[in-house]
Amino acid sequence: MGNISLNQVTKSFGDVQVIPPLDLDIHEGEFVVFVGPSGCGKSTLLRLIAGLEDTSSGNISIDGQDATELPPAKRGLAMVFQSYALYPHMSVRKNIAFPMRMAGIDEAEQNTKIEAAAKALNLTDYLDRRPGQLSGGQRQRVAIGRAIVREPAAFLFDEPLSNLDAALRVGMRLEIMELHKKLSTTMIYVTHDQVEAMTMADKIVVLQAGVIEQVGSPLELYHTPRNKFVAGFIGSPK
Ligand code: ADP
Ligand code: MG
Repeated sequence: MGNISLNQVTKSFGDVQVIPPLDLDIHEGEFVVFVGPSGCGKSTLLRLIAGLEDTSSGNISIDGQDATELPPAKRGLAMVFQSYALYPHMSVRKNIAFPMRMAGIDEAEQNTKIEAAAKALNLTDYLDRRPGQLSGGQRQRVAIGRAIVREPAAFLFDEPLSNLDAALRVGMRLEIMELHKKLSTTMIYVTHDQVEAMTMADKIVVLQAGVIEQVGSPLELYHTPRNKFVAGFIGSPK
């Protein structure tokens, strides 16, 4: 579960091609980071995988199935939005339950999953609070909890920590990495922050103007950057 392949995928908005033909393989359990400067196409690529944007051409397969035409809800992936996407009038419990209620899961099963997610995210004591009564980090954990209960084949994060202050960001990085270890689920994480990429990723995908400049582990990119752009962006001495 969580194997994702992009085969000659392109995306144009009107006449502007923002993703030229692109191939990428993501494997089960990997923590993959898309990194690159603002406007290079990270979010677009993630939204194509999520099904929130249609491909202009090419194919996306998820666990061996052609997913190119599937709507987001049928892809088995969970996009983690920034914490402000929580429902302010609902308790933490109800926020986390929301996708399960929509999917018609019975209440007993909902509660079991909520308890498990709360435990994994250290939210057990906060289930009856509302988002407004939580810290930024706690709110972000609720947003992740809402994704966890769907038991997705992969989690997709788009700059999830950009609203948090620097100290909190460091802590949340560690929490997301810990969660990845616990769940061993594929995670795709978008950031423009090189430090975040270098410290979190199993595999980094460096993008420039919709083109993959290099794919590799942080050490590979550091020691053997393929070109000046990668070297400069990653901070490699080469
Ligand atoms: P990043 O997430 O790396 O900052 P994006 O994927 O948001 O970059 O954007 C890549 C390019 O596509 C940018 O030039 C952006 O202006 C353009 N773009 C993104 N979404 C749209 C859209 N809905 N309509 C037109 N252009 C878009
Ligand atoms: Mg973006």
